[in-house]
Amino acid sequence: LPFDQRDGHIWFDGALLPWRDAKLHVLSHGLHYGSSVFEGERAYGGVIFKSTEHSERFRRSAQILDFEIPYSVAELDAAKKAVVDANGFSSCYVRPVAWRGSEMMAVAAQNSTIHVAIAVWDWPSMFDVETKMKGIRLDIADYRRPDPQTAPSLAKAAGLYMICTISKHRAERRGYADALMLDWQGRVAECTGANVFFVVDGVLHTPIADCFLDGITRRTVIDLARRRGIEVVERRIMPEELPGFSECFICGTGAEVTPVAEAGPYHFTPGAISRMMVEDYAREVLPKAAAAE
Ligand code: PMP
Repeated sequence: LPFDQRDGHIWFDGALLPWRDAKLHVLSHGLHYGSSVFEGERAYGGVIFKSTEHSERFRRSAQILDFEIPYSVAELDAAKKAVVDANGFSSCYVRPVAWRGSEMMAVAAQNSTIHVAIAVWDWPSMFDVETKMKGIRLDIADYRRPDPQTAPSLAKAAGLYMICTISKHRAERRGYADALMLDWQGRVAECTGANVFFVVDGVLHTPIADCFLDGITRRTVIDLARRRGIEVVERRIMPEELPGFSECFICGTGAEVTPVAEAGPYHFTPGAISRMMVEDYAREVLPKAAAAE
């Protein structure tokens, strides 16, 4: 079912609207000039995982794009919970989005209204379980994550996803599940909607998030690994090093933790550490009361 033809409710500028009425005008600055930021979150058992961290990042992304979301973190957290409940979901994907409205249609748009909407939908997993356990195949993208001096690299800005969509389309056309993107200096960066980890000699290695999104899942995985006594090294990783890693996995709100079997010409074997992280993350996201049962 197309996303504009569903039933349910969408939170739109402070009110819950019938799903099909949550519309905006074609002359919206966010559409023409990319003045839009968003979040991607998941509710598990009725509780949004790290909701407050997502709300904080949402507000920070807007500030990087020079606008202020007109709702506090507490208001955003309450609104997200209200949308999950209003749609009768226990587990679902949560999509807050904010954009500049229609008052000014030029590059400068300081006096535009900032709109915020929150939608939720059913999205069991980005990859099916079988694919997940075998490990997905990654293309190597042509496009690179931009220099932070060229683009607002650390914001979850809609405009930064343009090259992700192009790269993901190319990957799928070539039979891959996703694409691994390098950064502007040719180092391994991230996938089109997830961060990446590698394993060698029982140690996790992941790129430093200095020109791409420092995922909330990425931070969670680092934390989970350290709790297991697994060493985690954040460092610059060159693609030439990939043959030296035994395991690889990607992680993000959508992908959760997903093992990787191939990245371009390089092969990995999903192993004990990847499996441990898949399982630890699946346990970690459960509401604390459910996890204790
Ligand atoms: N990188 C990109 C480009 C993403 O879109 C995402 C998903 N939001 C991530 C990384 C992972 O971020 P998170 O773990 O916060 O979902």
